Amino acid sequence: MPVCLDMKTVGRLLSNIMKNQLTANELRQKYIDFFVSKQHTQISGASLIPENDPTVLFTTAGMHPLVPYILGAEHPSGKRLTDYQKCIRTGDIEAVGDPHHLTFFEMLGNWSLGDYFKKEAIGYSFEFLTSVLGIDASKLSVTVFAGDDLVPRDEEAAAIWESYGIPRERIYFLPREDNWWGPAGETGPCGPDSEMFIDTGRPSCGPDCQPGCSCGKYFEIWNDVFMGYRKTAEGTYVPMDRKCVDTGMGIERTIAILQGKKSVYETEIFTPVIAGIEKLSGKKYGVEEETDISIRIIADHVRTSVFILGDPKGMAPSNVGQGYILRRLIRRAVRHANKLGIDHAFLGELAQIVLDLYDKPYPELVAHKVFIMDELAAEETKFSETLLKGEREFEKMLPNLLKGTSRQISGRTAFKLYDTYGYPIELTRELAHEHGFSVDEEGFKAAFEKHQEVSRSGAEQQFKGGLADHSEQTTALHTATHMLHKALRTVLGDHVGQKGSNITVDRLRFDFTHPSPMTSEEIQRVEDIVNKQIARNLAVTCETMTLDQAREAGAIAFFESKYGEQVKVYSIGDFSKEVCGGPHVKNTSTMGHFKILKEQSSSAGIRRIKAILEK
Ligand code: ATP
Ligand code: MG
Repeated sequence: MPVCLDMKTVGRLLSNIMKNQLTANELRQKYIDFFVSKQHTQISGASLIPENDPTVLFTTAGMHPLVPYILGAEHPSGKRLTDYQKCIRTGDIEAVGDPHHLTFFEMLGNWSLGDYFKKEAIGYSFEFLTSVLGIDASKLSVTVFAGDDLVPRDEEAAAIWESYGIPRERIYFLPREDNWWGPAGETGPCGPDSEMFIDTGRPSCGPDCQPGCSCGKYFEIWNDVFMGYRKTAEGTYVPMDRKCVDTGMGIERTIAILQGKKSVYETEIFTPVIAGIEKLSGKKYGVEEETDISIRIIADHVRTSVFILGDPKGMAPSNVGQGYILRRLIRRAVRHANKLGIDHAFLGELAQIVLDLYDKPYPELVAHKVFIMDELAAEETKFSETLLKGEREFEKMLPNLLKGTSRQISGRTAFKLYDTYGYPIELTRELAHEHGFSVDEEGFKAAFEKHQEVSRSGAEQQFKGGLADHSEQTTALHTATHMLHKALRTVLGDHVGQKGSNITVDRLRFDFTHPSPMTSEEIQRVEDIVNKQIARNLAVTCETMTLDQAREAGAIAFFESKYGEQVKVYSIGDFSKEVCGGPHVKNTSTMGHFKILKEQSSSAGIRRIKAILEK
């Protein structure tokens, strides 16, 4: 949503437009209730850590966990689904501090998997916006796909909007870069979308002003994607028989605009956190911009950290993958707290406020409270020491830097701060900017890569990646992960539980609870068990049942679900039974030879195995 708003004006105007001051909890509930009343089944949102998708570290949209079903797999809950989904976009981390970019946000969605299409989807959107949310239809503008050489203009969607009373002059035809989604990979389902905007009533910025313009007249709140095409390997778009709908509405931004607030931080989901920061720092929010930005960053990062730690597949801070992002968020929050003069441990207090705000919609947070609090405290202590050392070192370097003619900090210096003092490059960058310097990023990267086998910025690159990879090899590794899990429980005991799984085409990585390093005999036994079972040519089958039935049937399940919700249970012969979304191989005969490459510590009480399948 490329909107840069004067939120103050928008807020004032909108408060005149909106009748009700909807809270996040109310919006979430109204949305779900509405779609349930339209024969949708409410499903649980997925974990923040994507299952079986090596291309991204976190779930970035409500659609993300549903990609396999959009691609054609049958969903156990049927063809009409609705949910609220936790999302993290670390690509937006630099934007945090502005009025409407968060690293963590919630997305509401409704889906048709080969069921209804444009007519119903637009009908539902219109009804929800006007009848349920009470938005005056005269304030609504929409965009539809303008068409190009490959796919015709979406007159159908436009006509449907018109049938609901949206006049032609408020239906805007925009090109592919604005109104087209997908496919997730090179080929596959994709299609035009239609975005809904509220006209804030502000004067337009000129004759070309229209939805999508950044002047702030129009505010996007919802997007309906009509997946009616399949992109072929030749680059053509073929209409599909099985058509899908995906929609996404961001909760934080929507309530901000409905409540007539200047930013997401002035809504009830942030004000208690901000009050906490004000109390801790003695600083007031809304007085000085730089302070406000620090307060916003702390509020956002603490909230996101709580959700990562409190996820059913929650991670502890570490130096790779999701754990590294978590570490970065916590450390950045601590640094901004220091800037505000908070010189004692504070994360726990703020985390508690976040927990209280979200205990109902996200009971997993409360269930993981001890883990969340322990990890935050440990990281806070560790980092406070690092920070002190690093900043002291920077201050020492400063006189020399100021003497020089270059306004750039060399890559070598930045790397020294990182390597010797553990001072993160992001913070060096911020410190440098504060003193009017830039950082030689290329130089830092070169120095970093020379010393590091695995580039951590590589992990960040993953955010920019595409969606689910269901190649043969990743599918086989996914089945191997279930077998490894079962073998570990056989050899080490039932305390072994999955704490994280990550699969690339080359290897699987599995984190699990176990207090001590495995002995080489234990590793050997686990390998042997898996290979023996693979050699039995076991059929892999899938059944659909409720989570309670799955548990009764002896399936391993490490997540919560809505009461009575249907889940998939994958059985590998008589060897393993686990609740999971799939996909898996049909028979273990195609898998190859299982080999454990490494067994190491991941974080306190959690071990990590890396393993491969050799053909
Ligand atoms: P923007 O251009 O502002 O970053 P986007 O085009 O990336 O937004 P979508 O990918 O269309 O957004 O996501 C759908 C909805 O999710 C948005 O309309 C918005 O309400 C919400 N959303 C997206 N990114 C964020 C974010 N960083 N923080 C809060 N809400 C977000
Ligand atoms: Mg964005």
